[in-house]
Amino acid sequence: VMQVYAKPLYRHGERQGTVFVHRDITKQFEVDQMKSEFVSTVSHELRTPLSSVLGFTELMLTKELKPERQKKYLTTIYQEAKRLTALINDFLDVQRMESGKQTYDKKYEDIVSIIEHVVDTQKVNTTVHTFHIQKETDKTIVLGDRDKLAQVFTNLISNAIKYSPDGGNVTVRIYEQNNRLCIDVKDEGLGIPEEALPNIFTKFYRVDNSDRRRIGGTGLGLAIVKEIVKAHEGEVSVTSELKKGSTFTVSLPLVALAPGEEDERDNDDKQA
Ligand code: ADP
Repeated sequence: VMQVYAKPLYRHGERQGTVFVHRDITKQFEVDQMKSEFVSTVSHELRTPLSSVLGFTELMLTKELKPERQKKYLTTIYQEAKRLTALINDFLDVQRMESGKQTYDKKYEDIVSIIEHVVDTQKVNTTVHTFHIQKETDKTIVLGDRDKLAQVFTNLISNAIKYSPDGGNVTVRIYEQNNRLCIDVKDEGLGIPEEALPNIFTKFYRVDNSDRRRIGGTGLGLAIVKEIVKAHEGEVSVTSELKKGSTFTVSLPLVALAPGEEDERDNDDKQA
């Protein structure tokens, strides 16, 4: 994007001509566009849960309601308030990561225990999916921030659920490849159009088609995944086929522990 402006050129008080100044403002343009996209996404995403919190609260304040109905409305209010909290946390995370202010508290962690914990907490959100954890290696220790790594798999597994509305298998496979620890998160859902694949890790990007228009989100989940994985010297990639499903692969450096070292680490954890 070029900005052009004309500047009169004077010499000894006499006009000699005009200088046209061309300035490349692509960067500024992009930043402005990002900002306005951010503002409109944020306000839209915040408004939806807020308006249902307000709507149901108003109903409860102005109407005599049977206890069951009250409970139903309160449940909705609670869920929407939780969604709002999650959204705000996502926004804050992205901002912190981008400004380089995010700190990572890295320790030796067993990726299997992190994944089992995430699967257990995600399970309760669905009745139509079946979860599988396939552990194909014994070298499952990584040096990482437990909460942040949990966030990576929470985002991937909750997407696997969200974007396979008809249910099916969600399979997490843990294996070793090229001296790295790899984790696949595979679903049997909507899949991702090929032309969208290069963009899905970009902030605020959401695939827009009729299949998924009603599925809520901010387009931040995968951007957060990418940042966290990067901070662990890892990589994340995706393969997908429309209407068949998607597989996200995270690879992390393996931590080689000498025999016996693992026990010491466990003892340290217990003392801490
Ligand atoms: P959000 O889910 O909030 O839109 P994400 O950053 O998590 O944001 O994902 C970006 C986009 O990638 C989503 O809008 C969705 O279209 C697509 N996507 C992510 N995960 C999957 C998946 N497992 N299956 C199909 N599409 C997915």
